[in-house]
Amino acid sequence: MSYRVTLLPGDGIGPEVTKAMRACVDATGVKINWDEVIVGAPAIEKFGTPLPQAAIESVKKNKVAIKGPIETPIGKGFRSVNVQLRQELDLYACVRPAKYIEGTKAVNTKVDIVIFRENTEDLYAGVEFDVNSPEAKHLIQEINKVSVKKVREDSAISIKPISIFGSERIIRYAFEYALKNGRKKVSLVHKANIMKFTDGLFLRMGQKIALEYAGKVTFEDVIVDNMCMQLVQKPELYDVLVLPNLYGDIVSDLCAGLVGGLGIAPGANIGSAAALFEPVHGSAPKYAGQNKVNPTATILSAVMMLRHLGEMDAARRLEKAVCDVIKEGTDVTYDLKADRNDPGSVGTQEMAAAICKKLKQ
Ligand code: NAP
Repeated sequence: MSYRVTLLPGDGIGPEVTKAMRACVDATGVKINWDEVIVGAPAIEKFGTPLPQAAIESVKKNKVAIKGPIETPIGKGFRSVNVQLRQELDLYACVRPAKYIEGTKAVNTKVDIVIFRENTEDLYAGVEFDVNSPEAKHLIQEINKVSVKKVREDSAISIKPISIFGSERIIRYAFEYALKNGRKKVSLVHKANIMKFTDGLFLRMGQKIALEYAGKVTFEDVIVDNMCMQLVQKPELYDVLVLPNLYGDIVSDLCAGLVGGLGIAPGANIGSAAALFEPVHGSAPKYAGQNKVNPTATILSAVMMLRHLGEMDAARRLEKAVCDVIKEGTDVTYDLKADRNDPGSVGTQEMAAAICKKLKQ
């Protein structure tokens, strides 16, 4: 059997880590026809847009895609291509496992957490109005008419929509995952003590859905600031986390840090019509073109993709090959060495070659 998968190399370190990933997936023997489409900086150069329609059409057609990171200008310029892709394709569930791998510089060896981040709403919805724009002025006037709390006239505005529909489907997805994968507890993370309507709605949906899983999956809710401290001190207490978009983004980087850094943290964005796999890390522009960064996060994202395709044996073999190479600690990138300046660290493609070699042993 062969598959057609969209490959979006991205920019910065994206082309390097996706090249390494592709070599490893091909070495498993699973036949994949890669439909490669440029996005990000190279697409701006060629087509004048970071997200050509061809990229969206390809993912819609193939239903499965894997991508490298894409840079987003900070505080100006075009909107995040990553966020646009998730919204255009309605990839509502961002799934990010954080699990200890022997040989990494993990802060805590007992971490085994799967994070479910809502991917389409919250402050990421892209409903924003710049300071002094006619839209912001109009909105502020209207808000000040109906709200006891007044908004200063010289404010920029970002809207935080959290819906019943959006909350229900991500929370249900997290519970279903827990049930199917023998996970014991779902912790819902929020700030409903302050944002009583938006986070309050997310929490109430969690409490309601939890009743359907009573006796099978335990439910608790934790306030996000406390959760950050708990995760640093006692991560072994947590199993499945479900969070609105912004907290999910921040807490998943925290968990990546706990297990040894962004270089090894994989992710998936799942919707009802398509699935897009990508590392948690960004485009790390300072390392672009240096064949230096760790390809593990992208390769483990491909492991998640192989499982999604039903290629369980190939997924298991590739994951084991990655873990074996990391455990041996020889053919690994700088971030996995005890000393980051270790001259014995290898490059991105060399680490991938060592993983391919393990697959064939
Ligand atoms: P970043 O690219 O994730 O890099 C932050 C740091 O994480 C790096 O300096 C490096 O740490 C470490 N790191 C990241 N990837 C690594 C890898 N493969 N191997 C080893 N270490 C790795 O975060 P950023 O610098 O904040 O963001 C850069 C750009 O990426 C921004 O434009 C941002 O918007 C974008 N971004 C894109 C995505 C996406 O495409 N999904 C996600 C997040 C951010 P050391 O310096 O300690 O070596």
